[in-house]
Amino acid sequence: MLSYKHGFHAGNHADVLKHICLIYFLKSIKKVDNSIIYIDTHSGGGIYNLNHEYMKKNKEYQTGISKIINFKTEDPYLRYYFKTIKNINKSSKIKFYPGSPKIIQFLTNTKDQLYFYELHKNEYKDLKKNFSKFGNIKIKNKDGFTFFDEEKINNEKKGLVLIDPSYEIKDDYSKVINFVKINYTHFKNKIVMIWYPVLNRLSINEYIDEFKKTGIKDILRIEMPIENDKVEKGMTASGLIVLNTHKKTSRSIRGTITELQNCLHIKDNKKKIIVNY
Ligand code: SAM
Repeated sequence: MLSYKHGFHAGNHADVLKHICLIYFLKSIKKVDNSIIYIDTHSGGGIYNLNHEYMKKNKEYQTGISKIINFKTEDPYLRYYFKTIKNINKSSKIKFYPGSPKIIQFLTNTKDQLYFYELHKNEYKDLKKNFSKFGNIKIKNKDGFTFFDEEKINNEKKGLVLIDPSYEIKDDYSKVINFVKINYTHFKNKIVMIWYPVLNRLSINEYIDEFKKTGIKDILRIEMPIENDKVEKGMTASGLIVLNTHKKTSRSIRGTITELQNCLHIKDNKKKIIVNY
């Protein structure tokens, strides 16, 4: 029984980081190829309404999107992100927040093949409602970790894979590692982004080590702290493990994340972002 609802968290600082990185890597692939594959193993519903009871409960979007939507910046990736949000709202007053499926659908075209997997029945219904009119999008109510058993994908084609579990189920950590190990040959021409929350520093270090133990080279780690690590419950930072990127990526994406930290007014020197291989 899945009880996680992304609506409680949509638009928070972790979503903002993940979605800006998503745009960054999508744009980097689209620069060299106009017809790509995008795989979202854990899609969520695709669009979130700020007036919904889930979003109103903790108002997590106030730690993220609400803080930054009117920020003026020259950073191209932040600008694409703001443009995407303004597009679904038709103004700068936010009522809707786009999840990863909506962001990708907005920034791609009919030549691209998009796959959205979502296990939760209600989220799946939302996905169908939001995206079934697009002929280039395949939506399935299935376990994202079985994606490559279900779909025949052209391994040669360039693309992007987002693995974004909630980690509410502790098995998700080992499932992600297995998924990456088993399917690595499918990822040859694809950038793979794996989101993670920092809830406990030791556990997250062990998780990162598990990726290193797979023998995969050039694992990029991006992490944005919000507050100093603590022993009490709560997310102090979030990050992404990114596979198959170019080495020079780290310098350029660091600039974007630093600008994001400025937007979010995270100033304490101790809260250093991590962008390294
Ligand atoms: N990627 C979305 C975004 O950025 O907007 C957010 C996804 S949310 C963190 C995780 C989603 O995965 C939830 O909607 C949950 O119902 C779904 N889920 C949980 N386990 C799953 C599984 N094994 N396969 C597919 N979806 C799953």
